[in-house]
Amino acid sequence: MSFDTLGLLPELLRAVSEQGYEVPTPVQAQAIPIILQGRDLMAGAQTGTGKTAAFTLPMLQRLAHHGNTSSSPARHAIRALVLTPTRELAMQVEESVRTYGKYLPLRSTTIFGGVNINPQTAALRKGVEILVATPGRLMDHYQQGNLHFGNLEILILDEADRMLDMGFIRDIKKILALLPPGRQNILCSATFGGEIRELATSLLHNPANVDVAPRNTATSLVKQMILPVDRGRKRELLSYLIKMRPMEQVLVFTRTKHGANHLSDQLEKDGIKSMAIHGNKSQPQRIKALEDFKAGSIKVLVATDIAARGLDIDQLPHVVNFELPHVPEDYIHRIGRTGRAGTEGEALSLVCVDEQKLLKDIEKLLKKDLPKQVIPNFEPDPSIKAEPIVMGRGGQSRGPRPGGRPGGGHSSTRTERSSPHSQPRTRTSPRGK
Ligand code: AMP
Repeated sequence: MSFDTLGLLPELLRAVSEQGYEVPTPVQAQAIPIILQGRDLMAGAQTGTGKTAAFTLPMLQRLAHHGNTSSSPARHAIRALVLTPTRELAMQVEESVRTYGKYLPLRSTTIFGGVNINPQTAALRKGVEILVATPGRLMDHYQQGNLHFGNLEILILDEADRMLDMGFIRDIKKILALLPPGRQNILCSATFGGEIRELATSLLHNPANVDVAPRNTATSLVKQMILPVDRGRKRELLSYLIKMRPMEQVLVFTRTKHGANHLSDQLEKDGIKSMAIHGNKSQPQRIKALEDFKAGSIKVLVATDIAARGLDIDQLPHVVNFELPHVPEDYIHRIGRTGRAGTEGEALSLVCVDEQKLLKDIEKLLKKDLPKQVIPNFEPDPSIKAEPIVMGRGGQSRGPRPGGRPGGGHSSTRTERSSPHSQPRTRTSPRGK
């Protein structure tokens, strides 16, 4: 995915590309379209996720689209307010507003405590559309009559959890009481404790939720995530994730050899260096694939369960289940490829409507539900009905299914024999050295 698909104005795209950003981060991909629609949003995102651009870009666009920009000094007419817990964050956010808004005729300033109030007052009197402020100093200005909120269209609370930790809740409540109804509200927080939820309930109307850092209750070092997606769009989603995050050294599991070959070819077409590794490959081919993977010239290894069992690959950062295994225990083997030796790993599973029963079986074995995240633009189409998975383990047909879908996960015609001795064991450690 690129920034062009998010519906942003050319002026903003230009500023973004000047920053050298090529693809939106997950919080940007998810939050930007929602904010552009004018919806309230609760965003779970920490510093470093690209959250600032995620709310700044659509905020600028909404201000540019609606209402009068700054032909007159428009004294006191603040149209967007960003509250932050600290002076440093206020300065950073306003810097981003300037950077991304450089081709739009919108003015901004920042106000925070601990410095002389007069230059801030002068800046406010000249007129700004966007104000980035810490709560205490904002109240001071309000009480001095330096600003009013009658035209406010957008309110953003950045790092709301920190604001509450720092004891700003009373100021925030006072400020909220001064704001006009009918505005758009965005709440950004890295954590969602009781107080934040309370604030969210009183502040947000029918909010959308975006959470790019879902907290996993498991103590395991493997972060597991189910990504619901249509069977025909799995390959597209996988390429998107590998490029966008970006992901290096990914071990991808398919159920069949044919599926592994097919997927690997398609990833190559998407410009992702990849290799299939399974029992039909010769030993020298397998060793070469592993060495290239270790050296980084191959990013993705696509493997079947049996082939992967023969590989002693340690400490992989990412395992992706392109298809869920028929045998729930295989899921545990697969994800055990990551999160070893004290390093964190993640296991993503692309799950389509056909695989709900397989997912249930895995969750039953794990004795917990796995967290699910729908990736924007890959929302499953609810009209697509479940179909039987054609070939299962050991080449047994599980029922007819018309026509394979390229990249769809079930286009296989043959399944690898399930003998753990079908391959020689090959040792390597891609992260090593
Ligand atoms: P933030 O989480 O907003 O503090 O942003 C963290 C860092 O990521 C900042 O230095 C941004 O300049 C940078 N950044 C934001 N969006 C992107 C993007 N789409 N691609 C690359 N870097 C980005």
